Amino acid sequence: MAKKETTTKAESLKDTGVKQRPTAKPAAKTPAKSNAKKSTAKQAVDTPDLSIDQRMKNLYHLQLILSEVDKIKTLRGELPFEVQDLEDEVAMLHTRIENFQTNVKELETAIGQQKMKITDSNKMVERFQAQIDEVRNNREFDNLTKEIEFQGLEVELAEKKIREYSEKLHNLTEEIARCKDGYDERQIDLKAKKAELNEIVSETKIQEEQLRKQAKDLETTIEPRLLAAFKRIRKSARNGLGVVYIQRDACGGCFNKIPPQRQLDIKLRKKTIVCEHCGRIIIDPALAEDITGKTAE
Ligand SMILES: [Zn+2]
Repeated sequence: MAKKETTTKAESLKDTGVKQRPTAKPAAKTPAKSNAKKSTAKQAVDTPDLSIDQRMKNLYHLQLILSEVDKIKTLRGELPFEVQDLEDEVAMLHTRIENFQTNVKELETAIGQQKMKITDSNKMVERFQAQIDEVRNNREFDNLTKEIEFQGLEVELAEKKIREYSEKLHNLTEEIARCKDGYDERQIDLKAKKAELNEIVSETKIQEEQLRKQAKDLETTIEPRLLAAFKRIRKSARNGLGVVYIQRDACGGCFNKIPPQRQLDIKLRKKTIVCEHCGRIIIDPALAEDITGKTAE
């Protein structure tokens, strides 16, 4: 008899030890309590048995964490593209400046060549002038005069080309100056954006890891089917919200009105209720308040 008694005591002690788990959680409320106690022993290993209240709270908590992760991603999502755009622009300007500088060199060479032509022609003219003084007949005189005239035209042509090239050179120099200004500006922008991106990445890296760990832990407390549904809704929802609460008699996700009876059902917290319009899971604002500590309005 005595032996039997001790075993029962031990068993009941063990029992209370297990039972303490759900009651230890702050959210387990009276209506779901007895239900939770009954199945604890069976389900404690894989899916902790939680009241619908706690499950919804966990789901909403998960939503808040994932929304934070979304925010980090958005924050980072813009910057890499901006940095890439600036890098492309800087590279483009660099190439353009290099090409222009090649053109400048070509023009300078061409101008030099024309100047040499002028010098040569002038030398020839000088020589012909000297020969004119010693001509013996009209034919020689005419030939020399024609040569001098021809060289004069050559000089004029070269001068015209020099003027053209110089104008091009002038425009090109202005263009290069503009490109260099743009290049310097973009370089400054790029440096700033890069620094910003690096800062965000290093700043949010730890935060993101922590959030992902929290999310993973919370996910184990949510019924797989509900979790899958939640993830599916979240994916198709533009704002990434899979769980929302009643806001001014409407769905907090799509803002369509919720009929009073449905609102009552949601507040009763007996089952999972989704929005008729957008399919988001709707919870009692009081549950959201418990998680955020803020008044859900
Ligand atoms: Zn909705």
